[in-house]
Amino acid sequence: MNILTFDIEDWYSCDFITTDFNWDKYEVRIYEGVNHILQELDSRNLKATFFCLGWIAEKHPEAILSIHAHGHHIGCHSYQHELAFRFDREAFKKDTEKSKKLIEDLIGESINAFRAPGFSITKKNTWALEVLTELGFEYDCSILPARHDYGGFASYGKAEPALLKLPNGSQIKEFPINIQNILGKNLVFSGGGFFRLFPYWLIKHWTSRSDYMMTYFHTRDFDPDQPMIDSLPPMRKFKSYVGLSSSFAKFQKLLNDFDFVSVEKANKMVDWSTTREIEL
Ligand SMILES: [Zn+2]
Repeated sequence: MNILTFDIEDWYSCDFITTDFNWDKYEVRIYEGVNHILQELDSRNLKATFFCLGWIAEKHPEAILSIHAHGHHIGCHSYQHELAFRFDREAFKKDTEKSKKLIEDLIGESINAFRAPGFSITKKNTWALEVLTELGFEYDCSILPARHDYGGFASYGKAEPALLKLPNGSQIKEFPINIQNILGKNLVFSGGGFFRLFPYWLIKHWTSRSDYMMTYFHTRDFDPDQPMIDSLPPMRKFKSYVGLSSSFAKFQKLLNDFDFVSVEKANKMVDWSTTREIEL
């Protein structure tokens, strides 16, 4: 099962370092980026899940309306792209609720899927999953099941869908990101910087070997003309801007070689009665 997802945020959201959330001053590139992706998916009759920022729903609603009008599954990617573990429970709930409402009011439908920025639900903030169930979310896609820069969730085990049983008695369906261990490092290759960095034959090889793959692409992954943020630390800068000119062609090859579904469709393909349950 290969799941196609996009995180809908603009080019400047590659930066988790800044505390400057005054984004109105930045050039707007989201419409062009979204249209590019929608055209490609339309030409293949493919449906995907788009995790959208509440901030984009508020400031650039047409971008999300356009995704919705093309029949894609819309999820929530927080309001302002803050890492979930930087919030306490109340602040996380406030941010997520604000975003969910903005998106739902915009598209006129309730939404059921969530992805935290930077896969920032870890072993230390599992309360965030309880908050998601309180807000009516059915699926979460925020877990990176390995040790990682932002903490990760190594005890999750194999990267595959699982039913998370939460301390408050609720449950949520988890579709984690998958990783590849390379020389002792757990790397996410199915989107973002490492997708752009590694040659396609390697991406194809890893994808062929996985019976579960969760992708995460951004409009900026395919935008070689985006402004560069000079203040990023060297490694982050490299990861943010490597391979931009060839990444869309690589993405097209991936779509040629493999079948993809949205999270909503994937949910129907999983037999939840036999799926692994994880008690948290
Ligand atoms: Zn993001």
